[in-house]
Amino acid sequence: MELELKEMLTDLEALKQSLSDPSHRAPLDKLQLHVERLTNLVKAAPVRRSKVKDMSAEVVDSNPYSRLMALQRMGIVENYERIRDFSVAIVGIGGVGSVAAEMLTRCGIGRLLLYDYDKVELANMNRLFFRPEQAGLTKTDAAVQTLSDINPDVVLESYTLNITTVQGFETFVESLKNKSFRPSKQGSGVDLVLSCVDNYEARMAVNQACNELSQTWLESGVSEDAVSGHIQLLIPGETACFACAPPLIVASGIDERTLKREGVCAASLPTTMGVVAGLLVQNTLKFLLNFGQVSPYLGYNSLKDYFPTMEMKPNPQCSNVACVERQKEYILVKPARDAAAKAKMEVAAQSTAECPPLHVDNDWNISVLDDSPLDSVDARASDTLPEGLTRELPSADEFLKLPTPEATAVDDLEELRRQLEAINST
Ligand SMILES: [Zn+2]
Repeated sequence: MELELKEMLTDLEALKQSLSDPSHRAPLDKLQLHVERLTNLVKAAPVRRSKVKDMSAEVVDSNPYSRLMALQRMGIVENYERIRDFSVAIVGIGGVGSVAAEMLTRCGIGRLLLYDYDKVELANMNRLFFRPEQAGLTKTDAAVQTLSDINPDVVLESYTLNITTVQGFETFVESLKNKSFRPSKQGSGVDLVLSCVDNYEARMAVNQACNELSQTWLESGVSEDAVSGHIQLLIPGETACFACAPPLIVASGIDERTLKREGVCAASLPTTMGVVAGLLVQNTLKFLLNFGQVSPYLGYNSLKDYFPTMEMKPNPQCSNVACVERQKEYILVKPARDAAAKAKMEVAAQSTAECPPLHVDNDWNISVLDDSPLDSVDARASDTLPEGLTRELPSADEFLKLPTPEATAVDDLEELRRQLEAINST
């Protein structure tokens, strides 16, 4: 391109010199200026790096993966290159989703599936990722444009659709099932779904799809006053689904209802969204690469820098049919899974006992915090939340007020006994 423009400039110059009447040169001067501007633009355009076939740990300036592969050398991750096998779906490419997508792209994730129906607006510029010149483009297309420049090794799929419509939901579920990237993979075609949407309806759609496919997902959210957020791990059948219990938020001291009036736009901060995206992707990496501990629920209250954690059990009377099905399946496989986990822990304990303790001297008097177990609550109990957490919605689900099947069974038995006694006494 640069070469062609240079040739064009030479030709224009020759043409100019060949004109006998100098007064005819003005339009050619104008054309020459245009070509010079184009040449400068081409020179300033970013140079795309070529694809990298294998991730290398070689420490050279030109290796985009040397710092990531160092995690392996440091003993944090056993096999970092496995990240190239994984597919992650991100639903909602807004203030959290776009930043999460960039982080995963820079980490060298194998494949990213991006879902959003919205367009980039100048009103989004208080957040990270999108640029003013992308205003008017769909968020998914703008994201693919930026992400493919950052890391051409990542396979990017853009879905401009609304998952809360019938057709959008069907396409969403089908795309999650598609296993062409890794045909040998068990279950669906993706390893994790990240929900980065900003409304209840879209979360319920993600919840429905993931319960149907038995797909593990991570939910994220930022409060409408922009000062608190959360992430939550949802494993169908094993942890509470989104319909098992009203979603939790970190209480920020502002009444949410006052923020949801018609025409009043929600606040947003790049800081809170960046923190939540960071927590979300950190837990995604731990989940995929099998290191550390994935938080079942992690809240963030920026006003107090408070991070509550807890875990939620599924509700056996959940209104979501697929959730109840997954719970039944989980109960069947649980004993075998518990036994395998116990055996693994015993092997790990044995190998730790054989190793000499690290940092015996401890010159700096650093103490490690106690790994106390997380607060665990039943999805139905609304009054047992850890300090600082509140429900996003009132827990007004009608099914909670219905008598439990056990209670009904007892009543029926009592009635039957009374009837039998009546018959016998006659
Ligand atoms: Zn449920």
